[in-house]
Amino acid sequence: MTSKTHQSFGLMIAQVFYPNFINAIPHNQIYWTSGFVLGVIWGALIPDIDAPHSEFSERFISQNFLISLLSLFITLLFGIKLFSFVNKNNFFYFLIFTLIGFNILNFFIKVFFKKYFIHRGIVHSIWGIIILNIFLLIPQNTIYSLPSLFASLYNGAIWGINIGYTSHLLGDSLTFAGIRPFFPFNLKISLNLFKTNSFTEKVLFHFFNIMNFILLMRTISNTGG
Ligand SMILES: [Zn+2]
Repeated sequence: MTSKTHQSFGLMIAQVFYPNFINAIPHNQIYWTSGFVLGVIWGALIPDIDAPHSEFSERFISQNFLISLLSLFITLLFGIKLFSFVNKNNFFYFLIFTLIGFNILNFFIKVFFKKYFIHRGIVHSIWGIIILNIFLLIPQNTIYSLPSLFASLYNGAIWGINIGYTSHLLGDSLTFAGIRPFFPFNLKISLNLFKTNSFTEKVLFHFFNIMNFILLMRTISNTGG
C-alpha cells in the first residue's frame, strides 16, 4: 500500500479506537490527542523504512541509517561501561573505541543480518512492533519526571504509533504481496485483494476517506445530540 492509503487507513482505525482512550483520560486531553494523532500518522508510515524508495525512508529516515544508529547506540553503551572511569586522559581512547567499535558492528550487522532487513521483512512483522516499543519505553522515566503535559503527549504518541503501525501491517496484508508476521518464518498473511498502487488501491483510498468522513460526522452528531 502507498503512504497516503496507509495514512488514510490508519486514521480510520484510530477514529474507531479514539473514544475508548479519551474517556479514560481525565487530564491533558489536548496534549494526549496531539501526541496520538502525530503518532498515528508517523506509525502508519514507519514500517516502510525498509523500502529503499518509500516516502518515509527518503524523507525521514532509512533502514540503513537506523541500523547505523543502532550500532552506534550499542557501541556507546559498551564504551561507557568499559570506560566508566573516563577522565580527560582516557576520553581519547573512549572515542577511538566508539569509532572502531561502530565500524566493526555496523559492518557485521549489515553483512550477516542483511537478509532480515529486506522489504516487508522484520520491520513488517510483530518483531518490528516489539523492538520499537522497547525503544519507546527507554526514555519513559525521564519523560515522567517532566511536567505532566509531556507525559500525556508521549503517552498519546506511543498509543498512536502502535495503532498506526498495526494498521500498516493490516493494510499490507490486504495486498497480493502480503506480510510475514513471524518473519523469517514463512507463514504469509495476504487477502490478495489488490496490488500496491493499483487502480483498486486508489479506489480504496477514496473509500477510506469517505469512511473517515462518515465516522467524523457520526461523532459530531452524537456529541451534538
Ligand atoms: Zn509496508
